[in-house]
Amino acid sequence: MTTYMNFIDNEWSAAYDGRTVEVLDPSTGEVFAHIARSGGSEIGRAVQAARHAFEGDWGNMAPAARSRLLLRIAQALLDHVDELAALEQRDTGKPTRQARADALAVARYFEFYGGAVDKIHGQTIPYPQEFTVLTLREPHGVTGHIVPWNYPLQIFGRSVAAALAAGNACVVKPAEDACLSLLRVAGIMAEAGLPPGALNIVTGLGNEAGAALAAHPGIDHISFTGSPQTGQAVQQAAAANFVPVTLELGGKSPQLVFSDADIEAALPVLLNAIIQNAGQTCSAGSRVLVQRAIYSDVVGRLAEHFKASRTGAAADDPDCGPLINARQLGRVQAYLQDADASGISVAARGQLDSNAPAGGFYQVPVLLSDVPAEHRLAQEEIFGPVLCAIPFDTEEEALRIANGTPYGLVAGVWTQDGGRQFRMARKLRAGQVFINNYGAAGGVELPFGGSGQSGYGREKGFEALYGFTRLKTVALRHG
Ligand code: NAD
Repeated sequence: MTTYMNFIDNEWSAAYDGRTVEVLDPSTGEVFAHIARSGGSEIGRAVQAARHAFEGDWGNMAPAARSRLLLRIAQALLDHVDELAALEQRDTGKPTRQARADALAVARYFEFYGGAVDKIHGQTIPYPQEFTVLTLREPHGVTGHIVPWNYPLQIFGRSVAAALAAGNACVVKPAEDACLSLLRVAGIMAEAGLPPGALNIVTGLGNEAGAALAAHPGIDHISFTGSPQTGQAVQQAAAANFVPVTLELGGKSPQLVFSDADIEAALPVLLNAIIQNAGQTCSAGSRVLVQRAIYSDVVGRLAEHFKASRTGAAADDPDCGPLINARQLGRVQAYLQDADASGISVAARGQLDSNAPAGGFYQVPVLLSDVPAEHRLAQEEIFGPVLCAIPFDTEEEALRIANGTPYGLVAGVWTQDGGRQFRMARKLRAGQVFINNYGAAGGVELPFGGSGQSGYGREKGFEALYGFTRLKTVALRHG
């Protein structure tokens, strides 16, 4: 059984005391590998290696050379798409199509940010004649990246490719449930020519390696993606060192379906938005708000889509794969028990493949109808394939319900009315609003992030690049 090691300074090393964490296949529940269980000392070595790289070869590399290197990495990742997708699938239980999409996405991030390296311009500022004033966008230095288990390749790609493009050196702490693809990516990047120390990956538990990274005084910026609770802890640890943090947290994202919507187009999108990655997506469309005139029709037709959905082992490429682990399964089941105890009706359940292995962490998709907007099922992030349907009468009521959670990440609007499309887009509390679609295929070009308990700061697109720089103003008095 393979034991995967840390990647520090372009070398593989075990935790100093040899401790490991088991790696489970969510489709079977079986242990198939181990990762290093690291702590403060491995994080310390990684931060030191990153600092050395930042002050040395990596930090001094000309932008055009850095660009060519990131583009070479993008091509190398594309050359390994099948291998990366297979690793991601085994480690996280992603259906084949999703695992492949994620492996392609990480390459695309390096392509996008590789092409942007030499286009991060500063400005000149009009000022009295005797001055010339300009701004420089400089890298933070050493950036820390704490990654969750739900989209390891994608989240690594969006934050690390942008940070490297801006000239930072990175220390990454992947989630203990999903490290393998990222360790392989690191190896591919080194083979493609990334200088030692520019990227370091340290595996281990959140409250050990993760906490050590968040509290390390040698870090200049932290990009955290994960739950609001951990985000708060990371923020507090970073505050002690005055380290800026970008937080990408959870969501309870609504889709609003008005009576003039193209229902036929909306139905498969409504289903996919909650069963993709078994509902373990921060931007999952986990509430569907439907105008009362069409409510029972839409819920009835959506129920047919739910019933037809297939849940099963990842390699069988089902619509819905297993959840990541037993704890996550227990959490989702507890919410469903609460629905039962609260008398909330189940409009439909999906089907479990008869050959799904008994030890896997399976939860079939569930459609709940007439969920009171204030109920915890309609307020809290379940992080499983559970969709809450809620009726509304007017635009105002739809907005009140849609904006009535502590989150503000993403929203979808289904209507043919142009005026309403813009009214909703402007008034919805969300970092991304999709009209007559949901997610726009997740393009790397589209800035992404939230407000409230969904976090702050933006990843993806050019916005992320700016986030991985700090601005310096230079005023030259020349008379
Ligand atoms: P989590 O907060 O438990 O873990 C996220 C990461 O933080 C992991 O690497 C973990 O090891 C680490 N960690 C845990 N405790 C830590 C600590 N005390 N100090 C430092 N690091 C620590 O989240 P999760 O369960 O892995 O992921 C699910 C959550 O992530 C959901 O809430 C989901 O919505 C959110 N998420 C958000 C986005 C986004 O872009 N907004 C994307 C994906 C997931």
